[in-house]
Amino acid sequence: MEFERPGIIRPPSEQASYFLPLTSGCSNNTCTFCGYYGSKLRMREVDDVRKEIDAMALYMHHGVQLPTVPNIVYAVLQSWDGRRVFLQDGDALVYPFPKLNEVMEYLNEKFPDLERIGSYATPQDILRKGLDELRTLRELKLGIVYVGVESGDDEVLYKVGKGVNHDQLVEAGTKTKQAGITLSVTVILGLGGVDGSQEHALETARVLTEIDPEYAGALTLTLVPGTPLYEEWRQGDFSLITAFDSLKELKTMVENSDFADCFFSSMHASNYYSVRGRLPQEKSRMVRELEEVLARQDPELLRPEFLRGL
Ligand code: SF4
Repeated sequence: MEFERPGIIRPPSEQASYFLPLTSGCSNNTCTFCGYYGSKLRMREVDDVRKEIDAMALYMHHGVQLPTVPNIVYAVLQSWDGRRVFLQDGDALVYPFPKLNEVMEYLNEKFPDLERIGSYATPQDILRKGLDELRTLRELKLGIVYVGVESGDDEVLYKVGKGVNHDQLVEAGTKTKQAGITLSVTVILGLGGVDGSQEHALETARVLTEIDPEYAGALTLTLVPGTPLYEEWRQGDFSLITAFDSLKELKTMVENSDFADCFFSSMHASNYYSVRGRLPQEKSRMVRELEEVLARQDPELLRPEFLRGL
């Protein structure tokens, strides 16, 4: 079956990157809150990826476009500065190591000035790879991986089908850092629902402390129609926390986490309020800011529902 190019879903920090698809879908398609739930993982043939890299090089070095190459390739290349590549899709790091090695070697060969390759990864993808393999990928410029941690609470992780527990999240994070790869993680406010809110926030602060990533981002749960969690909510089996309660969770996470040096942000469009800063250096300022918003309880201070995005 021919590989179908996935739509572009990427972290905000990869906006200037070239998007190179290696897979489509996600290998851990069981997360009940995620749009990738039930998606079929497809792997692209290495030869096909190499052809795309050839086309990239031909265009970037000689301005030549080939009629057989999809337009999207040239649309992205037009504004590409040749520095960063983001591997698609939901967890491109599931691509088997020998193939990943080959693709990344080829990218480096064709673009020697490449600065960084980035990818989404599930904790399982990282645990499956050897430390020596991750180090090899680092040498081939895999500079950053983006991992959805979602929660540090085992009960929440189990309920939402994350497929890993707290300790495995820590193991995957630690391994990534040992390989010298920068780690950017996301957690989801509200994922424990009303009943599990406090435990979710505290355990998430604990898992963040133990992983100690360079970047951490908070998102706010947004129910996606068609996912199992959306159905649970519709049937009254899952209750969404309020906007202000999501800020309480955020404050608990900022207050109780202990990082060596982490850029923490809730700038994502799904959040009701944006706060960001370096932790631990700016912890007091960030906590104070959240306390003020919580004390005022003024909905005008929050991002309106219609402006929230996934
Ligand atoms: S591992 Fe990530 S991308 Fe895959 S289904 Fe879960 S949340 Fe979605």
